[in-house]
Amino acid sequence: MSKVIGIDLGTTNSCVSVVENGEPIIINNPNGGRTTPSIVAFTKKGERLVGEPAKRQAVTNPDGTIHSVKRHMGTDWSVRMEGKEYKAQTISAMILMQLKKDAEDFLGETVDSAVITVPAYFNDVQRQATKDAGRIAGLNVKRIINEPTSAALSYGLNHGEPQKVMVYDLGGGTFDVSIIEIGEGVIEVLATAGDNHLGGDDFDERVANWIVRQCREKQNVDVSRDFAAMQRIKEAAEQAKKELSTAETTRVLLPYLTQKNGEPVHLDVVLSRAEFDRMVSDLIERTAGPVQNALSDAGIAPSELGRVLLVGGSTRIIAVKNKVRQLTGKDPSHNINPDECVAKGAAILGDTLSGNTLTTRENTSAANTGPGQGLLLLDVIPLSLSIETVGGVATRLVERNTTLPVHYSRIFSTAAPYQTSVDIHVLQGERPMARDNKQIGKFRLKGIRRAQAGVPQIEVTFDIDTNGILKVSAKDLDTGKEQSITIMADDRMSESEIEQAIRDAREYAGQDNLRKEAMELSSEAQSLVAKTQQALKNAGKNIDKGVKKQVKADSKQLERLLAKFRLDRVTKEDMDRIEEAKNRLESSAASIL
Ligand code: AMP
Repeated sequence: MSKVIGIDLGTTNSCVSVVENGEPIIINNPNGGRTTPSIVAFTKKGERLVGEPAKRQAVTNPDGTIHSVKRHMGTDWSVRMEGKEYKAQTISAMILMQLKKDAEDFLGETVDSAVITVPAYFNDVQRQATKDAGRIAGLNVKRIINEPTSAALSYGLNHGEPQKVMVYDLGGGTFDVSIIEIGEGVIEVLATAGDNHLGGDDFDERVANWIVRQCREKQNVDVSRDFAAMQRIKEAAEQAKKELSTAETTRVLLPYLTQKNGEPVHLDVVLSRAEFDRMVSDLIERTAGPVQNALSDAGIAPSELGRVLLVGGSTRIIAVKNKVRQLTGKDPSHNINPDECVAKGAAILGDTLSGNTLTTRENTSAANTGPGQGLLLLDVIPLSLSIETVGGVATRLVERNTTLPVHYSRIFSTAAPYQTSVDIHVLQGERPMARDNKQIGKFRLKGIRRAQAGVPQIEVTFDIDTNGILKVSAKDLDTGKEQSITIMADDRMSESEIEQAIRDAREYAGQDNLRKEAMELSSEAQSLVAKTQQALKNAGKNIDKGVKKQVKADSKQLERLLAKFRLDRVTKEDMDRIEEAKNRLESSAASIL
């Protein structure tokens, strides 16, 4: 059986890991990086870039570059590129395809299965979208696993003693906190809480705003509408923030940032850690609520925590570490790498799911649970699930932090006399009124027998699998007929859309090779034309007139074909024509080259 890779599909960066000889290892990308920027770019030349190359060209191609697509997963967001509409799943699939390819290059074998991690706070639609992205990328997604659970998994195997740990995960775009019990071969999530819209990007924004203010105060210019300047400021802000995780002060140097009255404007300012801490203190404070909620949902006091694990790049910020210390009274663990432990945990789970037992010294309890079973992972649902009932009330069916998998049924009835259909709105969230929660699906149950209000008996069943993915069904007990119901989440990709995206991805992979060959051919042909023209010049009159005429004609013909050449539309026939013209020129110009 081929290897199952573990993928941390992050907002800012992604990471891929695989178990080799019983140990999870990180797979480097072709640039040698241990994490890959979650960035996709469509260049003007018709190329598609992922990761480091996409990041490098982002400033010069802002319209063609897509960042932080994870923030759009499970929404109706889409982007138009090269005249085609792409949903978040399809863009995420491009990142996954790159990670899959990197893993294949590293392992020297095909990889077709993966475990992918998601924030614990991802709702059903976001999880489904992540699974769909995997499918589009040609991966059989064996499991969707929560990031904190995955971190605990990689930690748990290195430090086998049973304990309750807190995973405090502050990444680029999301914050999650989980209380997890690590026992003998069992990892049980006791509670999870978080904020889907809090992360490093918010810190960057604060620093970027500060830089804009500095421009105004020191140079008397408003750069906020200068797109190119703002791109550079955003990058400088992130850089400054990162430097302040180790240095007390950092210099923000932005030469030729913009222009004022035709003169270049430069910026050179110093930001101190104390000032940075003040700027972001309210953001860091926002993590306190979820920490307290998670502890109280788990029914434990901070003193009962074994360890506190920090996950996500933003936990490198000193003020964040101090906050965690203050909230828990514990020194957070330093011996796990916050960028890599999530992918490693996913690789460990992937390995156990593929039937391998782990043989690391520390994890004998996991290995002892037997082949194919490996670890027992008990995860929970992050948000309560309800359906809307009379008066717009959200009637709770499954409470948050219920252990997965979940199977729950409840009987409902009609509200009006002789009602033959009911609309069922499925909601996720903790608020008492339906309108304040997120609607994740709706369906209509038809064919109910005409009766007085409250007489028909409609059994609504919620099934949530170990990936946290929900299926809802309903049965009219009165007629005994079971209705087949599909959840029509507006944001979900339909089966046919997914199939189409899979076909596109396959076709693109084929085209990708063709484009690569085409690019090589066109640059060889261009350099041949340049070389020939130089050789003609050098030869001057020392060349036979007939040969000269032929060389010129062949060179013109090749130039004409190259001028028409478009990488995004190239066909095999175009390439054959260029190849032929190139061969002709090579042979006619052989005597002077
Ligand atoms: P993640 O989603 O876990 O990859 O985290 C990415 C976030 O971590 C981004 O917002 C980064 O700017 C941030 N980050 C990475 N390294 C550091 C650092 N040394 N100090 C502060 N933030 C960092």
